Amino acid sequence: MRIGIIGAGAAGLAAASVLKSEHDLVVFEQQDQLGGLWNYRSDPDLGTLYPTLRTNLPRELMAFWDFPFGDKFSDSTTGDFPGHRNVLNYLTAYAEYQGLISSIKFSTTVKSITPEPQSRGWTLTTGSNQKAFFDAIVVANGHYNQPRLPEIKGRQTFPGTITHSKNYRDPSAFRSQRVMIWGTAASGQDLSREISGEAQQVFLSGNQGPSVKTSQRSNVSYHADPVKIDGHTVYLSDKTAISHIDSVIYCTGYNYVFPFLSNEIIDVTDNLVSPLYKDIIHPEHPTLAFIGIPYLIIPFPLFITQAAWFAAVLGGYHKLPARQAMKEEIAQKITSFQQKNIKPWHYHRLGDLQGPYMDSLINDYGGHPVPNRFHQLAKSAQLSRQKDPDGFRKLNVRQILAQVPE
Ligand SMILES: Cc1cc2nc3c(=O)[nH]c(=O)nc-3n(C[C@H](O)[C@H](O)[C@H](O)COP(=O)(O)OP(=O)(O)OC[C@H]3O[C@@H](n4cnc5c(N)ncnc54)[C@H](O)[C@@H]3O)c2cc1C
Repeated sequence: MRIGIIGAGAAGLAAASVLKSEHDLVVFEQQDQLGGLWNYRSDPDLGTLYPTLRTNLPRELMAFWDFPFGDKFSDSTTGDFPGHRNVLNYLTAYAEYQGLISSIKFSTTVKSITPEPQSRGWTLTTGSNQKAFFDAIVVANGHYNQPRLPEIKGRQTFPGTITHSKNYRDPSAFRSQRVMIWGTAASGQDLSREISGEAQQVFLSGNQGPSVKTSQRSNVSYHADPVKIDGHTVYLSDKTAISHIDSVIYCTGYNYVFPFLSNEIIDVTDNLVSPLYKDIIHPEHPTLAFIGIPYLIIPFPLFITQAAWFAAVLGGYHKLPARQAMKEEIAQKITSFQQKNIKPWHYHRLGDLQGPYMDSLINDYGGHPVPNRFHQLAKSAQLSRQKDPDGFRKLNVRQILAQVPE
């Protein structure tokens, strides 16, 4: 088959490495370099990371199964939690090792993909209006590019700066300020640590709340979600208020966007991407697959597993259920989330469900089970982040594994 892959980030590279042995591939990448998010760009319109960002997963968990994230991709200053340049070097070496570079069309944006009902394939059109036919398409365009900016009442009355973590590059902009960070997930935690070195006080605000409610830094405190802004005062959901705020930083995540696909094919409402069977395949168009939709995951190994599952579907090694059965499974999943009062923008969150999710895909295509060490390290890494959000990157893998007794 001829397969078009949109994106040469980690997900697109994973898909290409799995599919290349049985298919002809073209990987379309709008940038002039591979690596996606890890291709650091100082311009926030082009990139998402800040210069000092280090991974929040130990490098062993960042490795594709067949290509260790060894010492040559790390350095003494970053240890087991590499910087973004280390990850880019790793991905570049992986693409070379897998022989993928010649399949990538750089500086080529995919503008649209449209189904061809008779052949069950797709016409792909690039930004320069070149058209090509593909039997199948893999969408691996990432979902950390368009900031999600939930509304807060009175936002327009705020006289200070409101920004999103995507735009953060340097803590000096917050020197001596009282800064509110909205969002307590990984970015909120990391930015509170970065900015507290310069700011007078950092108020970390969010309904989930970290599992550890105190910070080792005396000028970082935890609070409920903001609900209203009035001038420099921010009112919170627990009826308290914080005054004299100079800046607000949204660490509220990103929107899924697929500008090259009609919303009659894929709908994104409140960040729920639908319809997708197993979060991968379109039930009406089983030659259209999405790699990397779930979040709160160990990304690289998950991408490989999803890609291997899709390869098995294309190769006929795994037979999909009937279209109606897939649609019913999707509908049941949505209903069960609604019954549990889970908001649509959390439907793709995996967290602790990553293990069972990967196992179910592997079971479908009859692959090797995920090694126990992977699960242990994932759990221990999570625990060490929760225990010490400011200091977990000082640990090595041996110390991390010691967090959870067997
Ligand atoms: C702040 C932050 C920190 C993170 N830290 C970690 C971490 O420590 N460890 C970890 O494993 N993960 C981390 N992640 C998750 C990270 O997103 C994944 O590791 C991984 O990079 C996602 O890969 P991807 O291929 O899905 O998306 P991306 O890396 O975004 O790649 C998508 C690619 O598609 C291209 N593209 C998009 N649209 C088009 C188009 N129309 N035509 C052609 N090309 C297109 C883009 O240019 C890009 O190269 C972090 C994410 C964020 C935001």
